[in-house]
Amino acid sequence: MPRPIRALISQQAMSHNLSIIRQYLDNARQAPAGGHGGTPAAQAGATHIWAVIKANAYGHGLETAIAGFSQADGLAMLDLQETVRCRDAGWQGPLLLLEGFFEPGDLPVLQQNRVVSTIHHPDQIRMLQASTLAGPLDVFLKINTGMNRLGFAPQQFADAHQDLLALQQQGKVGRIGFMTHFADADGAQGAVDGPVQLFRDTVGDRAGSISLCNSAAVLRYPQLAVSAADNWVRPGICLYGSSPFANTTGQEFGLRQTMTLQARLLSIQHVKEGQSVGYGSTYTATRDMRIGVVACGYADGYPRSAPSGTPASVNGVATQLAGRVSMDMLTIDLDPIPDAAVGDWVTLWGNDGPHIDDVAASAGTIAYELLCALARRVPVHIEHPGESIEK
Ligand SMILES: *Cc1c(COP(=O)(O)O)cnc(C)c1O
Repeated sequence: MPRPIRALISQQAMSHNLSIIRQYLDNARQAPAGGHGGTPAAQAGATHIWAVIKANAYGHGLETAIAGFSQADGLAMLDLQETVRCRDAGWQGPLLLLEGFFEPGDLPVLQQNRVVSTIHHPDQIRMLQASTLAGPLDVFLKINTGMNRLGFAPQQFADAHQDLLALQQQGKVGRIGFMTHFADADGAQGAVDGPVQLFRDTVGDRAGSISLCNSAAVLRYPQLAVSAADNWVRPGICLYGSSPFANTTGQEFGLRQTMTLQARLLSIQHVKEGQSVGYGSTYTATRDMRIGVVACGYADGYPRSAPSGTPASVNGVATQLAGRVSMDMLTIDLDPIPDAAVGDWVTLWGNDGPHIDDVAASAGTIAYELLCALARRVPVHIEHPGESIEK
């Protein structure tokens, strides 16, 4: 018997979330001219969606996400081996490596699997120049517009683009697109204005696809995603049902949670007023109460930083953590659920429980981290419509 813990993954919620994002883009395209993009939206061209499936599809499993996002225009990730797994899983569409390739030996694999590469550093251009690639590699040239992580400085851009054009002449490079990544799309309204202007000034009238928007930018500045002839947006977290913004949940955008984490009650303790619970005795009962011991701990990916008061639910009834999260267990207040019994499922986050965005906020982190941290030892169950799972 595996430990009584499970992550339920909904591919239906994944495809629902993808369609919500498409709706945002369609609405932006039909919106009156002006807006944030600066270009009349009515004249704008197509917007394509790279579904971001890095980090094992934000903890959901690569193959699961490939099926859930089958309607995406492309899939974006970091790991070369994951692009191979996408092809093995039957994905025929575009694939993008968000950090590009790392060494010359990667290039044949990219070529064989028709992977689009980000080019963010002169070393990557040198590798292309030195390579004996037989066919053209499609690329997105990345510009650093203020994140100061990856990308060419605007002053280096013209040279890098010249180099890529020369490689195009040699047949090593195919299409050249332009990309940047915002540091503050989830921050103050208008925080992307400077970076967008810098991007536009840098690219100038060079022809090519552009790729600007992560989840936060798609949701907040959808006009940006329809403002050029050929746009490729790069949403990640919103496709998994979470909000990229502080103090909101994905629900407010019509998104559905794609992961539900549940574990059973292993034991129930009757604790007297004044007694404490768990390591460090951080929680003291303010009354005689029942404490539920749940088969989920930080070794399952649940954050140890989640304090007493973090939401959870039993049989659809809301309650909260009481005491410190330990490696394999956590403890909750069972007083709101008088009929709770050993063996009942406790929902730590997800459907019928607290929103993962609220759990993350309580733990002082973001849903991204919780999703990615789901431990390998947690059995994953892919939900199928109409199927009833063991209660
Ligand atoms: C992770 C990532 C994204 C997706 O970000 P979300 O906030 O999850 O939407 C987009 N672009 C790049 C370059 C990334 O690294």
